[in-house]
Amino acid sequence: MIEDLTGRRFGRLVVLSMCPHVAGEDVRWNCRCDCGAELSVSGHSLRRGRTKSCGCYQRERAAELCKTRERRITVSKKKNNRLYNVWHGMVKRCCDPSHKSYHTYGGAGITVCDEWKDFSRFRKWAYDNGYDENSPKFQCTLDRIDVTKGYSPDNCRWADMKVQSRNTRRNIWVEYQGKSYIAKDLADMFGMDDHALIHRLNLGLSVEDALTIPKGTTLSPGAFSPVVCIETGERFPSVKAAAEFVSRHESTVIAALKNHNRTAGGYHWRYADN
Ligand SMILES: [Zn+2]
Repeated sequence: MIEDLTGRRFGRLVVLSMCPHVAGEDVRWNCRCDCGAELSVSGHSLRRGRTKSCGCYQRERAAELCKTRERRITVSKKKNNRLYNVWHGMVKRCCDPSHKSYHTYGGAGITVCDEWKDFSRFRKWAYDNGYDENSPKFQCTLDRIDVTKGYSPDNCRWADMKVQSRNTRRNIWVEYQGKSYIAKDLADMFGMDDHALIHRLNLGLSVEDALTIPKGTTLSPGAFSPVVCIETGERFPSVKAAAEFVSRHESTVIAALKNHNRTAGGYHWRYADN
């Protein structure tokens, strides 16, 4: 007596019908897998729970395991690279004259102590002194306690970016007429506040403009970025210049830059692509 399995579900498989039966052999059943594949499976395997899918379940599991393993490898690589990059950046800034920041580090007398020229010794110090490879980006950075001194165990600590930027603010360097100045010194020369100078530079002003535009002038982000009149294609070096050209207030041009349905002086505007 053969038990009819038609319509029953085993895992992902639903039995459609019995295969033509060969005497003396186990009865096989035509099944459809949830993924759409059709196959025949012996009744024995179905009842014992040995076959529960066309094989797609195993394939999915294997793919997942691979992904997890890859993820683990990537994470551990990143962790190692991160500290290495900190070290490499430090050495480059201080010892390689072709590095873009060399003039404010090595060129300004900031050195790396001999011990730390060896990555393994730097790494040992890092872990002994609170380096946390799992901390979010920018929350565990190498900080010099006295910014006029170099990289060495007695002048360094791991700090978050806020501590660090407060510490190094006075050391932001600015190029002016072919010479490098510490922002604070340059601001003092022009009788202005160094925070205001840095703020203006961050808005995209040239150093000359940042130093000479009268105090109290309203500056908005992008006000000194080049803009283009969409209708005429004419390019203006700044929002200010465009506003003067159409005899409108800067804020009108900025509003038109933000919302392309709006016009300033009868024209539409966009920021230049540079
Ligand atoms: Zn399947």
